[in-house]
Amino acid sequence: MARKKKVIDAAIAQANQDKGLLLVLTGNGKGKSSSAFGMVARSLGYGFKVGVAQFLKSRRDTGEEKFLGAQAGVDWQVLGDGFTWDTQDKAADTATAQRGWQVAQAMLRDTSLHLVVLDELTYLLKYGYLEAAQVCADLAARPAMQHVVITGRAAPDCLLELADTVSEINDVKHAYRAGIKAQPGIDL
Ligand code: ATP
Ligand code: MG
Repeated sequence: MARKKKVIDAAIAQANQDKGLLLVLTGNGKGKSSSAFGMVARSLGYGFKVGVAQFLKSRRDTGEEKFLGAQAGVDWQVLGDGFTWDTQDKAADTATAQRGWQVAQAMLRDTSLHLVVLDELTYLLKYGYLEAAQVCADLAARPAMQHVVITGRAAPDCLLELADTVSEINDVKHAYRAGIKAQPGIDL
């Protein structure tokens, strides 16, 4: 244990840089968005300002929006209301995505935001509503000390390359498959 502690202490001493981090939380398991909202709570605990952009949202009555969206210092934007999945109208969905990205771009230029969460952003890239190259360029040009968390399945390679921290959450088991519906406070 003493030897192990020495190695860990040396590694901690080596990590002495500050930097605005890009984190990507991806994979098929549950816990991506809730982890991002945990970092929102942590940041607010220090009195930092936070921006949250939710790109695919089918409902407005979630616990995260009710609580975190109501806190001082949080700019909570739901940008996915205009998607037309049922009509397969790609031009309209692309326009919705582009309008949403303009809101995200404003957050990525705002030096007062300590943390920006781009929830479910990966799907807009996967379906080609946004250009990955444009999104990655805007992320790379953000303020040097601003942290960004991106969630969603199937994150594209350019995002994984640009990111400082990537976690892939695996779906080992999910209550949904046992016929249990989404539970308030746990799933929404
Ligand atoms: P959460 O918001 O709970 O952290 P998530 O962001 O990792 O979940 P999403 O793909 O955004 O996952 O799915 C959102 C909703 O779908 C949540 O209610 C979540 O519990 C549920 N969900 C997540 N993963 C799975 C899965 N593998 N099978 C079924 N439902 C899932
Ligand atoms: Mg999610």
